[in-house]
Amino acid sequence: CGVFGVIGTAEAASFVALGLHALQHRGQEAGGIVTHAPGIGFNSDRRFGYIRDNFTSQDVIRNLPGPLAIGHVRYSTAGSKGNTQIRDVQPFFGEFSMGGAAIAHNGNITNAEELRRELIERGSIFQSSSDSECIIHLMARSLQKDIPERMKDALRRVEGAFSVVAMTRTKLIGVRDPLGVRPLVLGRLGEGWVLSSETCALDIIGAEFIREIEPGEMVVISEAEGVKSHFPFTRVPGRFCIFEHVYFSRPDSILGGRSVYETRRQIGVELARETPIEADLVCPVPDSGTPAAVGFAAESGIPFALGITRNQYMGRTFIEPTEQIRNMGVRLKLNVNRALVRGKRIILVDDSVVRGTTSRKIKEMILDAGAAEVHFRIASPPTAWPCFYGVDTPDRDKLLAARMSEDEMCDYLGVDSLKFISLDGLYRAVGEAEGRDPAAPRYCDACFSGEYPVKPVDMINRGFEL
Ligand code: 5GP
Ligand code: SF4
Ligand code: MG
Repeated sequence: CGVFGVIGTAEAASFVALGLHALQHRGQEAGGIVTHAPGIGFNSDRRFGYIRDNFTSQDVIRNLPGPLAIGHVRYSTAGSKGNTQIRDVQPFFGEFSMGGAAIAHNGNITNAEELRRELIERGSIFQSSSDSECIIHLMARSLQKDIPERMKDALRRVEGAFSVVAMTRTKLIGVRDPLGVRPLVLGRLGEGWVLSSETCALDIIGAEFIREIEPGEMVVISEAEGVKSHFPFTRVPGRFCIFEHVYFSRPDSILGGRSVYETRRQIGVELARETPIEADLVCPVPDSGTPAAVGFAAESGIPFALGITRNQYMGRTFIEPTEQIRNMGVRLKLNVNRALVRGKRIILVDDSVVRGTTSRKIKEMILDAGAAEVHFRIASPPTAWPCFYGVDTPDRDKLLAARMSEDEMCDYLGVDSLKFISLDGLYRAVGEAEGRDPAAPRYCDACFSGEYPVKPVDMINRGFEL
């Protein structure tokens, strides 16, 4: 998901709508905005579909007045996958003795089912099936006297990944979980302040990137006092999601002080070093494989070419929630440039192989078009474990790499060769010269390594085996 918030500027909702539009790649199912205006109070609007189709008309924005606003773009992971109801769409709102508050959450709470059971037993009335709603109920039960303190109480009981943007009548609040698994950044917009999942959404509104919120940090921002920083959790070394670098974030964002595009290009360079092969052309699987293919071509000296064209009007395949839609998606979305690939040995560079559906269809299309050989090069290690921290990977038995060795996957996909970047190579590409330190890895890489930095309690209760 994507989260965004603004304080201290007229028509904050317009800026939030633009910010969410720039974060649309993080969630396309639904979006919502909550605002507050002195003398008017809170207003909210939550809708299915794209931001551009829902939150650009003046009729909608006029009903979201005020200098303080937060918003959310949703893609469902745990909970109600493929079956989102409008009541699951964030931001969520709670009314407390000291006033109202709204929250928008990116990530996934790994003990949400446990918390929900406990909260329901003690009288909480849940409105949605979302894991994020726990935070509101935990805040309601806190005895603290102000909302930021209640949020701290609530988030100390929550496990897993959370980047939260919240608001009261006068404050904008941002928090990252102790490991900082999901991103969150701070920006300056004139006299106002901005919180955003990614820097690309600061650029769209002309805000200045100030810094990342640190793992375990809470910032409380008011017009009167500016930014106040708190550290409510026991401090531990961060474990940012390495897959944000590979795929999830936009290439024009800055993560950990590094351009995402540059990191992906470097992944391609490492991949070419680790898995060289003779061929005529390096072609990206657009758009997610493009920066790595640029790096692969540069390092290998094999010409880069656009052998596959993407229809820009389709969403990301994997965000389509059901298998049937996903299967159709590939052909609707990608097409081969026949004249270019005929008779050629093609290296196809993609970011990841998950179920293998994309790779299989693409290989068919490329061979249909008359390519002489097809070699897959993948910009991440084999995805052998599901993510429980906010990226929608399927159950373990649907992951190709959980069932097959690399050679078996190569046979199954029917390609001439299939190679993945090593985990060390990936760490080098994100700036760790020594590769991955097995004693203290700097990132979350559980979907590749099976080492989960936060125990996925709910999933273990449901029978998931580590
Ligand atoms: P597959 O067809 O192998 O299931 O999906 C691979 C494609 O889905 C890749 O081209 C990639 O761009 C996209 N994808 C990237 N990350 C993820 C993820 O975390 N989960 C899923 N399901 N698909 C992803
Ligand atoms: Fe990111 Fe993978 Fe960790 Fe999920 S399991 S947070 S996708 S690195
Ligand atoms: Mg892709």
